[in-house]
Amino acid sequence: MAKVTVLGAGLAGSEAAWQLAEAGIAVDLYEMRPKTMTPAHQTGLFAELVCSNSLRAAAIENAVGLLKEEMRRLNSLVMKAADAHSVPAGGALAVDRNDFSRFITETLCNHPRISVIPDEVTAIPDDRPLVIATGPLTSPALSQAIAKLTGNDYLYFYDAAAPIIAADSLNMNTIYRASRYGKGDDDYLNCPMNQEQYEVFWHELTHAETAERKEFENMVVFEGCMPIETMAARGVDTMRFGPLKPVGLRHPETGEMPYAVVQLRQDNVAATLYNIVGFQTHLKWPEQQRVFKLIPGLENAEFVRYGVMHRNTYINSPKTLLPTLQMKELPNIVFAGQITGVEGYVESAASGLIAGINAGRIAQGLAPKVFPEETAHGALCRYITEADPSNFQPMNINFGLIPPLGHKIRDKKLKNRAIADRALAALEEFI
Ligand code: FAD
Repeated sequence: MAKVTVLGAGLAGSEAAWQLAEAGIAVDLYEMRPKTMTPAHQTGLFAELVCSNSLRAAAIENAVGLLKEEMRRLNSLVMKAADAHSVPAGGALAVDRNDFSRFITETLCNHPRISVIPDEVTAIPDDRPLVIATGPLTSPALSQAIAKLTGNDYLYFYDAAAPIIAADSLNMNTIYRASRYGKGDDDYLNCPMNQEQYEVFWHELTHAETAERKEFENMVVFEGCMPIETMAARGVDTMRFGPLKPVGLRHPETGEMPYAVVQLRQDNVAATLYNIVGFQTHLKWPEQQRVFKLIPGLENAEFVRYGVMHRNTYINSPKTLLPTLQMKELPNIVFAGQITGVEGYVESAASGLIAGINAGRIAQGLAPKVFPEETAHGALCRYITEADPSNFQPMNINFGLIPPLGHKIRDKKLKNRAIADRALAALEEFI
């Protein structure tokens, strides 16, 4: 049986390698970190979470919750790691980022069928089957090789990461614990602002200096990961209807509803680190210190990581890929992860899971599988391979990608539940 080569041990490549190895197939897994780092990764660990530590909503009435549940049923390593190393986050599944990535790294490095090659790949190897999962920050040499291989231009957008703050530097006399509408165990820390504080903050944020643009000319920002200063520039109230919205976050002691609220999410199990929710940013680091310290409760905040912004690269999948994630032209090459135009940690890992299964089938001389379109996995593959190639935008999973039920259900939660139940039934039959 053929060996399979996997390029990149990020969210997608790690999951692909695991699926292959568990199916009895030998894997060569290439990862360039820590020898060669990307602009966003900080460690040499596999499946590093470069920004938020949240894998988003947990419940299957939410499309990303359904995607995660499908992954569990498909023996996902990423979900095993996430479930084993979760931290409190209300209705979301968030993880201790170090424990999560260490679990995945150790599992793969100790797997008898996986050989890890700690090097940068600079050209497309001749090995087949091949899984390409080098992510949105694929190294420049390999990016060029992929552009040549796919024969169509690369598309770009820009992504940003939020700062992380030391918990013991927070002013807990001002900050209060609460989850929106009381969902969860008051897992979030809330920094309340009155109107005056908000307006001063907005003014300083919109006048703060951003980092050098250079290659960021003609920048297209992905809406789901928009820098906070870009959002602020849209209008004085835009943030108050976005990440700073106060509804459902009354002060537990005074009962007062603040004018705006900045939320902090626990970032590690020890609860020594918190990230600022929705504060992806491209501000210069001294400006982050100056402006974010205007947030009540963060006057003395110690930044353990500043927000950063990076190019995010993906191929034109509707032109290039089949719904099995194989290349149309070279079907022994399978793509996975954010480079295919799926957006998000969970989506990247899920596409890695599909790529692993299908590269394994190619290695075994079997036909690769198209996942049922009623499943979140199938819907995601269908979207990235059937979208309009002239205006292809990366996409998070959402119920709008899954075919509607044949009948009407008025209540949205009940409707989503019915779609999720149908998806899981379709998946069981598929398995
Ligand atoms: P990655 O996880 O980046 O894995 C690719 C791997 O390939 C890396 O380990 C890299 O070192 C390796 N590699 C690259 N080139 C080579 C080479 N030539 N040879 C060998 N190895 C190579 N998603 C969210 O859900 N939430 C967020 O908060 C979030 N924030 C983001 C912030 C930034 C700055 C960026 C860039 C993306 C963010 N994303 C976020 C989007 C996306 O979910 C992540 O990028 C995710 O890690 C993508 O998974 P992946 O497996 O495709 O790529």
